Amino acid sequence: FVFFSSDIEISRAQSPKAVDVLAKEIGLLTDEIEIYGQTKAKVRLSLLERLKDQPDGKYVLVAGITPTPLGEGKSTVTIGLVQALTAHLKINSFACLRQPSQGPTFGVKGGAAGGGYAQVIPMEEFNLHLTGDIHAITAANNLLAAAIDARILHENTQSDKALYNRLVPVVKGVRGFSSIQLARLRRLGINKTDPETLTEEEISRFVRLDIDPSTITWQRVVDTNDRFLRKITIGQANTEKGFVRQAQFDIAVASEIMAILALTTSLEDMKERLGKIVVANDKKGEPVTAEDLGVTGALAVLMKDAIKPTLMQTLEGTPVFVHAGPFANIAHGNSSILADKIALKLVGEKGFVVTEAGFGADIGMEKFFNIKCRASGLVPSVVVLVATVRALKMHGGGPSVSAGAPLKKEYTEENLQLVADGCCNLQKQIQITQLFGVPVVVALNVFNNSTDQISRYFFLISFDAVPCNHWSDGGRGAVKLAQAVEKAANQKSSFKYLYSLETIAQKVYGAEDIELSPAAQSQIDRYTRQGFGKLPICMAKTHLSLSHQPEKKGVPTGFILPISDVRASIGAGFIYPLVGTMSTMPGLPTRPCFYDIDLDPVTEEVKGLF
Ligand code: ADP
Repeated sequence: FVFFSSDIEISRAQSPKAVDVLAKEIGLLTDEIEIYGQTKAKVRLSLLERLKDQPDGKYVLVAGITPTPLGEGKSTVTIGLVQALTAHLKINSFACLRQPSQGPTFGVKGGAAGGGYAQVIPMEEFNLHLTGDIHAITAANNLLAAAIDARILHENTQSDKALYNRLVPVVKGVRGFSSIQLARLRRLGINKTDPETLTEEEISRFVRLDIDPSTITWQRVVDTNDRFLRKITIGQANTEKGFVRQAQFDIAVASEIMAILALTTSLEDMKERLGKIVVANDKKGEPVTAEDLGVTGALAVLMKDAIKPTLMQTLEGTPVFVHAGPFANIAHGNSSILADKIALKLVGEKGFVVTEAGFGADIGMEKFFNIKCRASGLVPSVVVLVATVRALKMHGGGPSVSAGAPLKKEYTEENLQLVADGCCNLQKQIQITQLFGVPVVVALNVFNNSTDQISRYFFLISFDAVPCNHWSDGGRGAVKLAQAVEKAANQKSSFKYLYSLETIAQKVYGAEDIELSPAAQSQIDRYTRQGFGKLPICMAKTHLSLSHQPEKKGVPTGFILPISDVRASIGAGFIYPLVGTMSTMPGLPTRPCFYDIDLDPVTEEVKGLF
């Protein structure tokens, strides 16, 4: 028998260096960091101004083939690769990762700090509260939600004059508009600055947002897989009776504020995006924004620390930024632009920044290019496409794989035919990468418990697949991958965006065509009329197949992609068509991860996280 230590045991066996030591090593000044405990620090955005003339390093994206529900090791490859580059090849490098939601950590999938000897440490801090960014997002999201319902109640129970007196109070004998109110007056075409001069008609227009409750799209959030909150009724207390409505909770990382955090480029930009969030329509069909509710400034205040990336380290002491983690189905699923930008400056021209795109390349990478790179203007140098024998077998016709169930014999025994047949998915994902004009390196993540002799899967040679053993050997096991990435980065990237809904459906997913439901068509018409027609598209589609049907593996063909509805995240800056129904609140399985999680009250050690 070979016994492997658990991820948390490996993480704990290594003592991390103090974060101020790490910060100094990578060239940060004392006043550019804010230390949280001993192993985490937030990095101030002022750094971008200090290093603005420094050329950027190379930008590497780790993406994958269509995964099994167990995950194929993209985070683990990302970390193994930077460990190999920095600790073994002595090239400056940085990993930029997403902060995981506590939903999967306590639910099905476990944490996201990598695994084995390719991990971010301390992994429990990475996987739990980190520096509180998700809590800040939850607070901001729910303040906005509370503002909407309270506003409807107040508008419905007070006269125009009473509302005006409360919204624009007399302080020390003088009535004055706030800057947000002045901006709202300008939007309404009322060019007055003296509150005493508004006509009755102007007062009425100014104080009434006239929100149509049936159009509210802003939901409350909590970072727990709590399926019973998928549909709720609010406003049942006697004090709110009469304003009862159906609503729902989403998982916190599905909040548009998380998507904004990931895409923003400065405090000013974040504030602007927060203000632009559309929460509902008014009774005339015009959008109502966070700015209309007067809450932009408060949201920015709640998010002022969350905007700073958190510095941590890998098991081999190399630097990592952990920042943002938007839901990858209804949002773009990538870590933050700010962390990437700062890291690209810190590593210098010859260095590498490695970041990750969730799910398969058809989803995560497509959104990384079309949404994240469009917002940042950054140009990727190389894509690393992660494949596993397990996922290839599944695409070759192997039985379904599910979390929690033991793997069937097709996966525990060698099977050349299944792997050979499954290479079609790898081939297709490589072609998708090439559509965007970026050089690609295939990383074959070798599983430890597998009996497959990689050398016998000779056909993988035609993909130049580089076997990686970083999970068992740390950076040393990914040196060949690091060398291949370094070589590929010298090739010219002729990166280009790829667009239109039809292009994504046909060129990326391989669909014949798309089919818009009447609801989707009327939403598109509405967004076009409201002036949002030109925003990038963020497809909300299953990650378990190139098509919309999760059970269709390999490379499905001849299908029509059905668009059931279209929604918008105006602050984040994208429209998201729904391909089928997308759950924004996961549930807990019969035996969730939390069964194994425990705390030793004497040593304060956390057990059972993975
Ligand atoms: P992804 O980022 O693609 O979702 P992760 O890197 O999070 O995947 O890996 C998923 C799980 O698989 C983690 O628990 C990780 O420890 C485990 N894992 C990844 N690579 C290996 C490997 N080579 N051998 C054993 N377990 C692995």
